[in-house]
Amino acid sequence: MNKPSIYGLTMEQLAAWLMEHGHKKFRASQVWDWLYRKRVTNFSEMNNVNKECIQVLEDNFSIQTLTEHVRQESKDGTIKFLFRLQDGNLIETVLMRHKYGLSVCVTTQVGCNIGCSFCASGLLTKNRDLTSGEIVEQIMNVQLHLDDRGQEERVSHIVVMGIGEPFDNFQNTVDFLEVIKDHKGLAIGARHITVSTSGLANKIYEFADLKLQVNLAVSLHAPNNELRTSIMKINKAFPIEKLMDSIDYYLEKTNRRVTYEYILIRDVNDHKAEALQLAELIGDKRHLSYVNLIPYNPVDEHGDYQRSTPEAISEFFDTLKKKGINCGVRLEQGADIDAACGQLRSKQEKKKEKVN
Ligand code: SF4
Repeated sequence: MNKPSIYGLTMEQLAAWLMEHGHKKFRASQVWDWLYRKRVTNFSEMNNVNKECIQVLEDNFSIQTLTEHVRQESKDGTIKFLFRLQDGNLIETVLMRHKYGLSVCVTTQVGCNIGCSFCASGLLTKNRDLTSGEIVEQIMNVQLHLDDRGQEERVSHIVVMGIGEPFDNFQNTVDFLEVIKDHKGLAIGARHITVSTSGLANKIYEFADLKLQVNLAVSLHAPNNELRTSIMKINKAFPIEKLMDSIDYYLEKTNRRVTYEYILIRDVNDHKAEALQLAELIGDKRHLSYVNLIPYNPVDEHGDYQRSTPEAISEFFDTLKKKGINCGVRLEQGADIDAACGQLRSKQEKKKEKVN
């Protein structure tokens, strides 16, 4: 029988679980240290923990529920991992190198039901939510890979932007955040963590109330309902007015800047008129806003969508700047591997289909 990942427990949950099973509370700190600081992959290596405690952990949890299926490394140092879950499903995790550190982009669901028309993952409907342990374990596996390289590199930033809608797997995402922020564990600073949503306004309210101090990014991709609904089905459920109301609430509660993700697709959403509309939409929130312009990464799955021309990208950027909107163009990483979100997984799934 498959055992759940030990990484799914927060420190408090681990302490409570151990006490329920007849062990002292301090064992939790020891186990936590072995997991996140010494990063062992077997309970039996925890040599200051007594045998009975190790046995009960072994009987009930697993440290490694993910196995590496494919790894692609780009010339720029980006590494894309495809992990196999215990039930055979495949998920993607990406390590990116930046001037400011190493960031990992994690997946929160197997597939995705949001169905954005430009996304390779949107074609594969959601199979299931990941557990919080499976989300944490993606980071642990990347960190173990770095440890093996022996260069003392450490994952410093996390982006929850991989396959899936994190707010459609809300509690597991929140538990995951608790675990990776824990200062005795991975100790990833809240300000170094960004959660990206396609715009589930109801969950943005809940997220704001949690006051987690982590960054919020919203995939906007269009400045009006007609256009946004045509590329993001979710806009029917949460049209732009509702979304912006929830962002107002978030800003009021947290006073933290929101990033708007905007994929630039040639002749779809990249005209000057849309840049002007976007500036208008952000309007009086501009002091707490940042627009991340992302030139579209063409994928076979969506042959009709192309990347905006360099001229269109410049014009869009300049138009926003002239309107006083903070913005930037995201540099492409891993261009020589299956860089677009979901691309590697979708290729492997197709291979599986051909074999079956
Ligand atoms: S872009 Fe994100 S939310 Fe949209 S379909 Fe892809 S994985 Fe889902």
